Amino acid sequence: MDEVSGSDHLFVVADNSHYAIYGATNELGGKVIHLNESKIDGLFSYNTRSAVHEFGHTLGLNHPDPKSIGYNSSKDLMVQGGSGGKFTGGDLVKTYGNWKTNKLNKGANSIKTSDGRKIPYPVVQHNGQITTIYKLGYRYKY
Ligand SMILES: [Zn+2]
Repeated sequence: MDEVSGSDHLFVVADNSHYAIYGATNELGGKVIHLNESKIDGLFSYNTRSAVHEFGHTLGLNHPDPKSIGYNSSKDLMVQGGSGGKFTGGDLVKTYGNWKTNKLNKGANSIKTSDGRKIPYPVVQHNGQITTIYKLGYRYKY
């Protein structure tokens, strides 16, 4: 893990202690995706959807507004807790716009510890608050 470069995107699989969600992304347009190991039970588990959903957040996509006129959430991958497995045309347009306006690949993907090691960026959003994975009892598995 010492070789985390600034251009990397990280998928971090962590244990379930004190962190009972499927996944999280360090920030919208960010580069670090956390996945809960307890939700991974195989290559095509439910958390495969979470991994791609969280990747959507790194593309700058947010959860859709279910009240949008004519909106059908059944196939939309960006619905939180849903079962849809596709990005919408709007998602692709927004991603392209985010890329054109340099809103992607934001933030650090690691921090340097006091002893000089680089570890994956530990900041997550939990219950609407920005906190660290350490406060949530979240430990990395490499
Ligand atoms: Zn989400």
